[in-house]
Amino acid sequence: MSNRTFTMIKPDATGKGYTGAILDQIIKAGFTVKAMKWVRLTEEQAGLFYDIHRARPFFQELVDFMISGPIVAAILEKDNAVADFRELIGATNPANAAEGTIRKLYAANIGENAVHGSDSDENAIIEGDFFFSKLERF
Ligand code: GDP
Repeated sequence: MSNRTFTMIKPDATGKGYTGAILDQIIKAGFTVKAMKWVRLTEEQAGLFYDIHRARPFFQELVDFMISGPIVAAILEKDNAVADFRELIGATNPANAAEGTIRKLYAANIGENAVHGSDSDENAIIEGDFFFSKLERF
């Protein structure tokens, strides 16, 4: 079990001014920020990040959404980080997300769902490496 996960605050949430509230909720839930950056992805970068979804009907919609504004990318640390963070953000579709979860509080719909959270320890490492060099993590 790894103690790190990777997150993005997505363009819907940064655009609506929810970045501070979401970071506050993450930190109050016991996560420590090990790396963080505010960036706008290119179409190619967003496509590579979500390469696993390339064959899905919503792929282009997802890419267009993810490049529609800046995101905050971060590596987070906590015991049981991947599972605990998925619980904190709630279900992919905010309509199914539990009360008090970040997606329930801040997401509009299944596409524009405010935050990303890695779904496995392996993907947490791959996704963190996608955004951060060794010099950018602490
Ligand atoms: P996650 O692990 O909870 O983020 O969910 P997935 O890995 O299944 O999907 C990745 C991302 O693709 C989601 O967070 C959504 O932003 C987007 N997505 C998933 N399903 C749909 C869909 O049906 N329509 C659209 N537009 N986007 C979707």
